[in-house]
Amino acid sequence: VEREQKEEVKDLSAYKGVWVYAEQRQGKLMFTSLELLGEGRKLADKLGVELSAVLLGHEVDDICQELIHYGADKVIYANHKLLQNYTTDGYTKVIADLINEKKSEIVIIGATNIGRDLAPRVAARLNTGLTADCTKLDIDEEQRILLQTRPAFGGNLMATIVTPNHRPQMSTVRPGVMKKMEKDESRTGVVEKVDVNLHDEDLRVKVEEIVKSAKQTVNLVEAQYIVSGGRGLGGPEGFKLMQELADALGGVVGSSRAAVDAGWISHDHQVGQTGKTVRPRVYIACGISGAIQHLAGMQNSDCIIAINKNPDAPIFSVADYGIVGDLYKVVPMLIEEVKKL
Ligand code: FAD
Repeated sequence: VEREQKEEVKDLSAYKGVWVYAEQRQGKLMFTSLELLGEGRKLADKLGVELSAVLLGHEVDDICQELIHYGADKVIYANHKLLQNYTTDGYTKVIADLINEKKSEIVIIGATNIGRDLAPRVAARLNTGLTADCTKLDIDEEQRILLQTRPAFGGNLMATIVTPNHRPQMSTVRPGVMKKMEKDESRTGVVEKVDVNLHDEDLRVKVEEIVKSAKQTVNLVEAQYIVSGGRGLGGPEGFKLMQELADALGGVVGSSRAAVDAGWISHDHQVGQTGKTVRPRVYIACGISGAIQHLAGMQNSDCIIAINKNPDAPIFSVADYGIVGDLYKVVPMLIEEVKKL
């Protein structure tokens, strides 16, 4: 291992460029890939290198231009029928082969269910490090080192992790944390179609059928308006009021962990360190005290409105607008006003 590591140290300068894994499912690009392109653009500009989106799939050509419009200089496009559906073996092999061949300096992957499966396997195959679940990325421009920040010790501190002696430097990034660029249809870029060396025997698992869950899950990550309820609701029926305000705004309902733990609402609504990280235009926190683990998931919202009857509640320290009062009095008034708009 020591000898391998020494060899890698010698070769670092051979690695150039920032890559973002463009995750698609059934031909639909995941929103988080656009966020990663926005972040990748900043990193690539600081390093003075190209930003590439790496797209794997079968006949998903339409996505290539979308990736360019959202910031990629180049799309590395692996098109193969065995890549139609995500498989751990197939996608790991193709991405690891591409990195070995083209030697990217930085690889960023969304911390989605697929990204969390894929990234560690690619990193292990390349004998490099991986920082999982980052909430902030930056660059030490002089050393060309990626500064990868993520919560540690139960969210009590933010750790910045580096991979100085290995390449590529790999991170998964929490969905909803980074900001996508505005779509610019006049942007131009290159689509590089690559050969795919993949055979049936490379895949130990085959996808026979994809069955969509009948249960509607809430899409907090992409929502522009979120109305969240906490323990201050006093019971599950309080979420009906939250839903009413969310409906009036065209938004969705979120919650604190206390409300989820009490069984008032399902976990897919939870915002925070052990829930979703969100970045809506407006986040309305009702009866939520503002514990650090909750703030970790929503403090980057564009506008935060807090309704709490305790004027000293910590949520007010991050709120753009604070209303001290009983949510059962304030929220119906808000609904009435919003309906007038
Ligand atoms: P409380 O802290 O009890 O606050 C209730 C608030 O409601 C109070 O401020 C009160 O003044 C107000 N209130 C009461 N009645 C009314 C009323 N009628 N009108 C207006 N205001 C009213 N929490 C999360 O939210 N998300 C996470 O992902 C998360 N992850 C965690 C991970 C770990 C490892 C740990 C240890 C904790 C985590 N927590 C998380 C829990 C977190 O520490 C808090 O316990 C939780 O956020 C508290 O939820 P709350 O604000 O709803 O409840």
